[in-house]
Amino acid sequence: MKKNLTNKEFIKILYVICDDIEKHKDYFSELDRATGDGDHGVTMSIGWTAVREKLDTLSDDLTFDKICMQVASSFLSAVGASAGPLYATALMRGGAKLKDLQSANTSQIADFFEAAANGIKERGKAELGDKTMLDVWMPSAETIKKTSIDEENIIEILQQGALKANQAMESTKEMLSKKGRSSKLGERSKGHIDPGAASSAMIINTFFEAVKKLDNI
Ligand SMILES: [Mg+2]
Repeated sequence: MKKNLTNKEFIKILYVICDDIEKHKDYFSELDRATGDGDHGVTMSIGWTAVREKLDTLSDDLTFDKICMQVASSFLSAVGASAGPLYATALMRGGAKLKDLQSANTSQIADFFEAAANGIKERGKAELGDKTMLDVWMPSAETIKKTSIDEENIIEILQQGALKANQAMESTKEMLSKKGRSSKLGERSKGHIDPGAASSAMIINTFFEAVKKLDNI
């Protein structure tokens, strides 16, 4: 049972996400080659490499909102377009829910994910079903929030969120793209997982797995 997540643990989780993005970058680019310009893996790698470099410089007594602010601005400086502003907004909005905190409880972690997903929605101006990363973030964050109402274990709410993220990622395969380069393909955008949805599902799953293994990382 894990009822709280600390700022130091959050930094550890972010490092694990950086590592996993790097490991999967070729897969994300491969997905993007099917419907877009094939750069999603490279873009994510650039962004999360910048995050890793920033994490190396952070003192371990920073509050969640300060960590998020620092990491968001590094991501945005490295990736100015598309995913850059979306992840930067997600991190800033999520972090704002944990203002001045060095430890967050289960419902605060749920609020973090909810605010991050809403930030992506507002910044990206996408709707659900447009075949974007929002199609993973929104249902996953909603599941985390709903589960947190009568669940105190952070591992459990994240597990439900991760399972939902995987289902949601798969469901983008049958969606028609309405945003970005892939929208020009019309019907031909069907049959492929959205690359942004894939990397989003990975991030949520990695977050869950990292929390589960925290004592060993
Ligand atoms: Mg692309």
